[in-house]
Amino acid sequence: MKIGVLAIQGDFAEHIAMLKRLGIETTEVRLPAHLEGLSGLIIPGGESTTIGKLAADFGMMEPLREFGKSHAIWGTCAGAIFLSKDARRAQPLLGLMDIIIQRNAFGRQVASFEADLDIPELGSGGAYHAVFIRAPIIESVQGDARILSALPDGRIVAALQGKLLATSFHPELTQDTRFHEFFLAVAGWQVDMLAG
Ligand code: GLN
Repeated sequence: MKIGVLAIQGDFAEHIAMLKRLGIETTEVRLPAHLEGLSGLIIPGGESTTIGKLAADFGMMEPLREFGKSHAIWGTCAGAIFLSKDARRAQPLLGLMDIIIQRNAFGRQVASFEADLDIPELGSGGAYHAVFIRAPIIESVQGDARILSALPDGRIVAALQGKLLATSFHPELTQDTRFHEFFLAVAGWQVDMLAG
């Protein structure tokens, strides 16, 4: 199995390092041809307007939309914004996920924070410690999209729609590989997610 990481802006190197730790073959994706032969793609955190503009400049918008119709894509933070159909402002979006997202939803005071989340899909291993950096929230999930995790006050921070995954937070900045393993399972990796 080979997983691509969109490598035009943001913290793609951290995702690649995480996948390597799991023994997964990776490739940096910058051009449409780089999508060939991939089982899934991660769109990293960074700045969603910049990612969108550069993706458009590189001719990646339609190839990414096409890829997402049949393959797994996971957007973390800015990547989740880019995956959404609506970010409540004009910027290039893939529009693949039926979620409405609100950028920089946590204001200045708590622009960055960490929280323990309860995510049953991650199996054993206890609460998931999530890192939020100028994070968006998922205002609502619609259609086939469903909530994977929310903060204690109900604000949605992770959603899944078929093989499309969006998280407000940054699993690549922790030592916990469970979220990457979960995405690999969504992409078709055969492992026992509950082992260990
Ligand atoms: N605030 C950024 C945006 O709106 C996302 C931040 C991040 O990816 N850590 O695009």
